[in-house]
Amino acid sequence: MHEVSIAGAIIDAVLDAAKKNNAEKVSEVFIEVGELTALYPDQLRFIFETITAGTVAEGAKYDIKVIKPMIKCKCSYNGPVESFEKLHFFMPTIKCPKCGETDVEITAGRECCVKRIKIS
Ligand SMILES: [Zn+2]
Repeated sequence: MHEVSIAGAIIDAVLDAAKKNNAEKVSEVFIEVGELTALYPDQLRFIFETITAGTVAEGAKYDIKVIKPMIKCKCSYNGPVESFEKLHFFMPTIKCPKCGETDVEITAGRECCVKRIKIS
């Protein structure tokens, strides 16, 4: 499953950072997830809680920030995408709100990364 492998990679990064810092416990994890990844914070939290059982990150809190999609278009538009169908399609159609172009460069909204962790 897509979500589980991404969540697994995130937790690997968290545990790796915890180990490098000789952490006994990870208390909080700050994560940024782009809206276009089709990952939902509640679902991620659930997976994190499941896979961190028995690790130093067990019981950590997850602060998940959803990043809105941003695009850059040939017509010089550079900014957020107002509306797109996110729930019904795995890959939503991204269109320039100014000229309707679909061949646009996505500059934000596809990230999925750990910003920082709080350890003790
Ligand atoms: Zn445009």
